[in-house]
Amino acid sequence: MDETMTSGRHFLQIPGPTNVPERVRLAMDRSVPDHRGWEMPELTSELVRGLRQVFKTTSGRIALYPGSGTAAWEASIVNTLEPGDRVLAFSIGHFSHLYAECGRRLGMAVDEVELPWTRGVPPELVEAHLSVDRAHRYRAVLVVHNETSTGATSDVGAIRAAMDAAGHPALLLVDSVSGVASMDFRFDEWGVDVALTGAQKGLMLPPGMGILCLGPRALERSRHVTTPRYFLDWGPLLEQMETGYFPYTPATLHLLGLREALRMLLEEGLEAVFARHARLAGAVRGAVEAWGLEILCQCPAERSNTLTAVVVPPEVDADHVLRFAQTRLNLSLGTGLGRLRKRVFRIGHLGALNELEVLATLAGVELALHLSGVPLDLGSGVAAAQRLLAETLRTRAGATTPC
Ligand code: PLP
Repeated sequence: MDETMTSGRHFLQIPGPTNVPERVRLAMDRSVPDHRGWEMPELTSELVRGLRQVFKTTSGRIALYPGSGTAAWEASIVNTLEPGDRVLAFSIGHFSHLYAECGRRLGMAVDEVELPWTRGVPPELVEAHLSVDRAHRYRAVLVVHNETSTGATSDVGAIRAAMDAAGHPALLLVDSVSGVASMDFRFDEWGVDVALTGAQKGLMLPPGMGILCLGPRALERSRHVTTPRYFLDWGPLLEQMETGYFPYTPATLHLLGLREALRMLLEEGLEAVFARHARLAGAVRGAVEAWGLEILCQCPAERSNTLTAVVVPPEVDADHVLRFAQTRLNLSLGTGLGRLRKRVFRIGHLGALNELEVLATLAGVELALHLSGVPLDLGSGVAAAQRLLAETLRTRAGATTPC
């Protein structure tokens, strides 16, 4: 950020970390609690109840680690798999590739199916791969629900149905780092064995925590897995969390922030949160189309409601657009990751966010594109987004009749 920009606020519109709402910041702005003190059991039990609602599970176990999504990846693997175990993974973008790589580095035999970085995982492909594995050598399938590098979602329920159709017992491990708490996630209904996320996206916290939801099959497997692990071993963690405490010093201020964030999400209502994200995402997509630019995710039904990856014309360097936005407008957008570097930029539209903030973001993106030499009519994207938002606001206003 340009240090000379002292007026106005920084627009942090990357696909996470997201803006931390004032209520969450204030909840964290207090003296550090005693992590072995009387406050903990009530706090931990409210967090577990709230997170179960967010993951849509009645009995899934919640594991909280200081760390990030990457720590949660590692926890999902070392607790359920042993070196040499076969794992099926699908590379649909930077993060799904890295999740597979994480398994590989930990000694698993990962078969990584390379797919175009423009779509979700086709369930029929999962079924095809598992159907031929008659010996049931695959111990787990790794899926990224919302691929943050491309803005493509995978239909986790359909993937579970495909695994069932193949009659395969592999565990289903799902990364929903940029989906959970912004987009519908149904741990029980979709038959997920391990779901994982981070604190810094839909949960509206500063970065600093990895969060997992664990089903009975994953828990059963973890009791027999001998993979060396200590900090990430979820056995002692779950045992202690039952009593409201942790086997290590937890990130207590983060836990207090998480409690406030969960209260906010549940006060708004999860379905309303998901509808808000869908509405705002629709406005962003409308703007991109009005600019005549391509949305990287090719299948409209798979387009993410938490971020949009925009392809720039070949003669333009996406990093220039980002630099203009950041240095001239104090607007941070997501860079193209891995092989998408310079070809795309990403607009994050998740977490604590409303209509006006999205319109301001789009005005900034439009200006940055214009200044970077992308031919477009100034105002066209913002107007398209306004029209879409006007439509939904009118419908939501419902019964209100003008005087
Ligand atoms: N998985 C996905 C889908 C992500 O978007 C990210 C980070 O953005 C990660 C995993 C890694 O999480 P972290 O950066 O919190 O370690």
